[in-house]
Amino acid sequence: MGTTIFTIMSALATEYEAINLSQGFPDFMPDEKLIDLVHQKMLAGNNQYPPMRGCSELLMVLAEKIKNVYELEVDPLQEITITSGGCEAIYTAITTLVHPGDEVIILEPAYDLYRPAVLLNKGVPVVHQLQGPDFARDWSAIRALITDRTRLIIINTPHNPIGKIFGPDDLLALQQIVAETGIYVLSDEVYEHITFGARHESVLRYPDLYRNSFACYSFGKTFHATGWRIGYCVAPPHLTAEFRKAHQYTVFTVFKPAQLAIAEYMADPSTYLQLPEFFEKKKNQLEQGMTKSRYRALDSQGSYFQLYDYSEISNALDTEFVKTMTIEHGVAAIPLSVFYTDPPADQKLIRLCFGKKEETLTSALERLIAI
Ligand code: GLN
Repeated sequence: MGTTIFTIMSALATEYEAINLSQGFPDFMPDEKLIDLVHQKMLAGNNQYPPMRGCSELLMVLAEKIKNVYELEVDPLQEITITSGGCEAIYTAITTLVHPGDEVIILEPAYDLYRPAVLLNKGVPVVHQLQGPDFARDWSAIRALITDRTRLIIINTPHNPIGKIFGPDDLLALQQIVAETGIYVLSDEVYEHITFGARHESVLRYPDLYRNSFACYSFGKTFHATGWRIGYCVAPPHLTAEFRKAHQYTVFTVFKPAQLAIAEYMADPSTYLQLPEFFEKKKNQLEQGMTKSRYRALDSQGSYFQLYDYSEISNALDTEFVKTMTIEHGVAAIPLSVFYTDPPADQKLIRLCFGKKEETLTSALERLIAI
């Protein structure tokens, strides 16, 4: 396994004191109220192991949210597990399902955790490649990839790094494939609350699909606290029971004060329902500013990422171009090609994170426009 691109680019940004629009994390604080709540929970004595599955206070609030937002009734104690971030949820779901030799369908570009996690579990990644600028998926081609060794398909909506979202047609096509073949679904939905325009289509909205699914979420992305490492996985009881067997021997439990604080904080749905408006302003600031540059924006429908085409500026490979951007122009970005096993030769695309303070985006824009 290599080193993740996020570590590489953030280190380069620090070394050259560049503005870091590479790794996806906010440079602003979480709500002070949430921070106060964590402190209060510690002072109130919540400092020893919580239950392995997660604190029931938080599981209850999540079940309520899932009912309100996705119209699905889940049993909080049997279908939700609190994890050490979205990454642990995804890794544990893969470990739960994949036996040596099992095939796993991945739609590339793909978040850089999926493939290594499949390989570490001795599974075999099978790729369906998507190409810009529209990154259209072909569900009949995906159906044709399924063999009697296929165990799992991994989907991601809103999508990191391309910023696209799935529509109802995608979910219905997938539901049909699952009904025909019985494969499992891992749905990475960590940007569930960050969509622009259309609503987020969760696997939780499709009860027949949910029966075979693990859906993974992140409080770090939702509450601007990626360093707290806290997320959760929702799956039907028989799948959650298996998931917890792997979870209990990896992290066992997750930081209790944050679980209790988040439970109290998110009882007010506005804490997450205002996110589209909050992030759309940032997206618009970057996108409108960039019209004055030689970069060309691709449409971002969700997540806090947007792809930009730099072919008017350089012919270099994206992995080289992001180094030049960081070292010579002072803005760090992520190259798209690293999210492919075999990157398409002619794509000149970088990913920028707009989940940053207004002044950070303003300074970054000055530099990007000058290139
Ligand atoms: N999810 C974040 C991103 O896509 C980074 C997470 C990480 O650094 N592993 O940028």
